[in-house]
Amino acid sequence: MSRNFIPYARQNIAQDDIDGAISVLKSAWLTQGPVISDFETACAQYCKVKYATAVNSATSALHLACLVLGLKANDILWTSPISFVASSNCGLYCGAQVDFVDIDPQTYNICPKVLALKLAKAKEQDKLPKILVVVHFAGQSCEMKEIKELADRYQVKIIEDASHAIGARYQDEPIGNCRYSDICVFSFHAVKIITTGEGGLVTTNQLELYESLNMLRTHGITRDPNKLIRKNEGEWYYEQQSLGLNYRITDIQAAIGLTQLQKIDYFVTERNRQANNYVELLKDLPIKVQKVDSNCYSSWHLYIVELEIDKIQKNRKQVFEEMRKHNIGVNVHYIPIYMQPYYQKLGMTFEKCPNAEHYYQRTITLPLFVGLKDSEQEYVSSVLSKILLNES
Ligand SMILES: *Cc1c(COP(=O)(O)O)cnc(C)c1O
Repeated sequence: MSRNFIPYARQNIAQDDIDGAISVLKSAWLTQGPVISDFETACAQYCKVKYATAVNSATSALHLACLVLGLKANDILWTSPISFVASSNCGLYCGAQVDFVDIDPQTYNICPKVLALKLAKAKEQDKLPKILVVVHFAGQSCEMKEIKELADRYQVKIIEDASHAIGARYQDEPIGNCRYSDICVFSFHAVKIITTGEGGLVTTNQLELYESLNMLRTHGITRDPNKLIRKNEGEWYYEQQSLGLNYRITDIQAAIGLTQLQKIDYFVTERNRQANNYVELLKDLPIKVQKVDSNCYSSWHLYIVELEIDKIQKNRKQVFEEMRKHNIGVNVHYIPIYMQPYYQKLGMTFEKCPNAEHYYQRTITLPLFVGLKDSEQEYVSSVLSKILLNES
């Protein structure tokens, strides 16, 4: 049977998104116009947070978050090894040292128990991190209450890398409200829950951080008459007060973000429905799936199956390749960051994370996205079933 390739993720762009982008293209402002602040306001309202700053990617957002929290050379940043490299690269951009906190084998999020032990040890050695970047893996929140208590005890700042998790909830409140963190970051890359092509967002409840984020997003420049250091010389006058970057998003992208955001609850409901479909379809197979805690509502950015490789006669690579042969775009998320050659040659010492390495040997990501058909989920499941039960 020949079938079209089914990717693991795909954007969902409709006529309203296209119309929004076109109306900006016909307007006076392609960038730094009014649609960006409309998008920021809508995101802040949705996340129930005071401030939101849109930028050109989550990678930029993470970098800015580290800068405004004062991360410098010789400081230390910790994050999860099972994430995209951007979660720790932000520390390297600031010249900091990075290290990794092992994951919980069931939720795949940073394990609070491992974190507690590692913090106690770091305190003894006078090597406490300045920042902890938690990653809400595949769309499920970390155990933020417990993590925040630990972070407060050791005076560690928290950045939430919620690149997978816009639209998700923790303790029945939206991710992004920063109740248990200093800053939260979202990604609007094409494969994520909502998209602007490329794009990102930073949320915070702290005015000082928000003002710094806005300045650093645009070269460290301000035009606000109340914030000038020298005398205001006239209408043209602006001041560069710090070394910022150009991390601005365009109004064209922000317009797409606005219409995407209007559909987010539908997107996330549909992702939950598909995740439940997979639970039913795969229930008799020798696999484990991510455990979702009762106080979490996941946005299901990724649907990952962990193969019980002692029960099957194949390894992950074989299963992966056979799925691809059937035109199913399975993927692997992620290679433990510290195993990357760039990290290996940094000369930093990383504590081995056995749970992360165990996870990495066994997992594949199945297709899940708004627009995936039920019949396609059934096809993916029946192919996986045949492969695992050696009928293929
Ligand atoms: C996608 C992703 C990023 C980077 O997002 P960009 O918007 O592509 O820069 C960072 N962290 C995680 C966990 C991601 O999945």
